[in-house]
Amino acid sequence: MNFIETRGNDGKKPLEVSFSEAILNPSASFGGLYVPKQLPELEENFILNHIDKSYKELAYDILKAFEIDIEESEIEKALNLYDKFDNPANPCPVVKVKDDLFVHEQYHGPTRAFKDMALQPFGSILSSIAKKRDEHYLILAATSGDTGPAALNTFKNKDNIQVACLYPDGGTSDVQRLQMVCEDGKNLKVLGIKGNFDDAQTALKNLLASESFKDELEKDGIKLSAANSVNFGRIIFQIIYHFWSYIQLLKQEEIKYGEKIYLVVPSGNFGNVLGGFYAMNMGVPIEKLLVASNENNILTEWINTGVYDITDKELKLTKSPAMDILKSSNIERVLYSLYGGDRTKEFMEDLNNKKIFKMSEKETQKLKKYFSAVNSDDLYGAKIIKSFLDDGYLMDPHTATCIKAYEELKDENLKTVIYSTAEWTKFSPTVLNALNQDDKNYPDKEALEIISEKYNANLPQSIKELFNATINHDMVIDKKDIEEEIVKFIRG
Ligand SMILES: *Cc1c(COP(=O)(O)O)cnc(C)c1O
Repeated sequence: MNFIETRGNDGKKPLEVSFSEAILNPSASFGGLYVPKQLPELEENFILNHIDKSYKELAYDILKAFEIDIEESEIEKALNLYDKFDNPANPCPVVKVKDDLFVHEQYHGPTRAFKDMALQPFGSILSSIAKKRDEHYLILAATSGDTGPAALNTFKNKDNIQVACLYPDGGTSDVQRLQMVCEDGKNLKVLGIKGNFDDAQTALKNLLASESFKDELEKDGIKLSAANSVNFGRIIFQIIYHFWSYIQLLKQEEIKYGEKIYLVVPSGNFGNVLGGFYAMNMGVPIEKLLVASNENNILTEWINTGVYDITDKELKLTKSPAMDILKSSNIERVLYSLYGGDRTKEFMEDLNNKKIFKMSEKETQKLKKYFSAVNSDDLYGAKIIKSFLDDGYLMDPHTATCIKAYEELKDENLKTVIYSTAEWTKFSPTVLNALNQDDKNYPDKEALEIISEKYNANLPQSIKELFNATINHDMVIDKKDIEEEIVKFIRG
């Protein structure tokens, strides 16, 4: 299957590209994104036929339906990376916590956050395409904390790929920082930036757009690519687990085939819930996708009013930092699906030029058929973390935002799956603040120990080891020196 562009074609880029082309060069005409030309039609009873299949088998059959131009052996190799998860047969378990409430735990991979679900197999696929074409790529990543560790882990020692990862010095948790600076692959460079996440992200965007930087790389035969969630190579792996949610509830005899369910997704760049939107359109019986946000309530406003307005919004730093966002990239793919390329181009141009776009009443109604949204603040999150642990379930601050949607957005009395995007170990000081109802500054190490002892919570080996691991990257630099350092790294 080929891929087409969300903002139409500029007459210079090809009208359609293959999957491998779309993931190597993810930027489409007019700054748009690539989307599948149409969603695959699955065989009748696809879901029922997969009740007794493993996650890998399900994933394989969904990828197969997309008819991507990747060899079967390479797909299998990529999916075998789910063997690195706690339980390879069930890498993302769906756990019952109340009569009608289930948690889909997406954090059982090597870096303990949901980014592993897609980045692990994606890294393998990208490297295999690069190798096949005999091309070398530099992947740039800017991270507020979860993408960086997951990208470094997946690309470590992979052929034909080098990674430069920028993180805001002092802007991540200790665990997140250690996960990055202790990675030891020769093909990895991790740079702390004096500044915040926005600075790191802006630096990355400038480099991606810089002709002189590209020329510099070309001298060494290196092309530039990105591993952020605008890359469809990540999105395709984020469709699969929404099928898994439904299949798990069937398997646990919590629903009958055809019975609808709600999915609640804590959202930032909208990649996770976009996968749910595609799954819904591919036939998973989903009543609605409930979008949870934190105090950065742009997605809630957009879905409730049809207006996406950042004219006087400022980014707030919250305790669920992976959802701190103003411009959410993947809404563009939903706009394209619902209103087509011309309209999407208008919306995105308005957003770029005027920092606002407005949908009509009719368009907004159409959006609301698929999505509802609500946001909550850190205080609410802390109460939820405490009250759920009192009932025996430990969750992280991102997961906690889902409960508001579960409590307020359901019109029907249907089973609900909330997505747990990070393990508590990645945000242990926030979790301990919630449990102790204080606002002390606990170092991660202390918070991890206290929580694991007091509440008998499992600490994975990979987290424990971090505090004794060798630091392989200790460079913290000014924004102006980023390009120079990356070129030095390339020339090694
Ligand atoms: C990335 C991330 C999110 C947001 O996911 P999107 O796909 O960007 O909407 C939520 N929670 C955690 C812990 C994350 O790492």
